[in-house]
Amino acid sequence: MENIQPKRILILGGGFAGLSTAMELEKSLGRDSGVEVTMVNRENFFLFTPMLHEVAASDLDLTTIVNPARKMLRRTNFFAGEVRDVNLTARQVVVAHGFDHHEHTLEYDYLVLGLGSTTNFYGIPGLEERALTMKSLSDAIAKSSDCTPGGSGQRVLQGEEPTAHLRRCRRRIRGSGNHRRNQ
Ligand SMILES: Cc1cc2nc3c(=O)[nH]c(=O)nc-3n(C[C@H](O)[C@H](O)[C@H](O)COP(=O)(O)OP(=O)(O)OC[C@H]3O[C@@H](n4cnc5c(N)ncnc54)[C@H](O)[C@@H]3O)c2cc1C
Repeated sequence: MENIQPKRILILGGGFAGLSTAMELEKSLGRDSGVEVTMVNRENFFLFTPMLHEVAASDLDLTTIVNPARKMLRRTNFFAGEVRDVNLTARQVVVAHGFDHHEHTLEYDYLVLGLGSTTNFYGIPGLEERALTMKSLSDAIAKSSDCTPGGSGQRVLQGEEPTAHLRRCRRRIRGSGNHRRNQ
């Protein structure tokens, strides 16, 4: 009997685009064994970015905005690793994995690119060096620690009460997102 290889769909990125693609594919493919879906993401969790600023302001615990990717996917293979190279001609993707960043080559028939974006500083002089960007969980954790009175950021103004520092700090973070609150 002829051994038919399943079609391989490789999704790069497990953010909003990658995850919703995988979930839609799971819904439409059902148990179809003729298609194999694999997702690669740097982190092993999905990050709900719209509430990132609340973690930064220490209003929310970080566990409320992260979800383990493997738990959200039923039939998609999940690969935690860093995409290093995409070869569209050879239909191969090189992924670094583990503590020693050893590399694997993944082959695909169909490729979905959902690796997100990087911050655009629009060439404004000094902005990149001075801005506190917030895109990842570690960015939010760093700001949360800065917002703790006497925190690692050491941004309490001279003579300022720690609670005043905390209020000022939280106002700054909230004012920077689209969930602006009047406080
Ligand atoms: C603080 C903040 C608040 C936001 N609030 C809102 C909001 O309220 N409403 C709204 O509509 N949008 C909001 N957005 C925008 C929204 O998060 C993005 O539009 C959305 O995340 C884009 O989805 P994406 O899948 O393209 O990228 P992402 O969600 O960023 O996903 C990309 C994924 O790829 C992974 N990745 C990247 N490079 C590699 C690599 N080399 N190897 C392996 N993995 C890699 C990343 O780790 C990430 O998991 C907000 C964004 C931020 C930062």
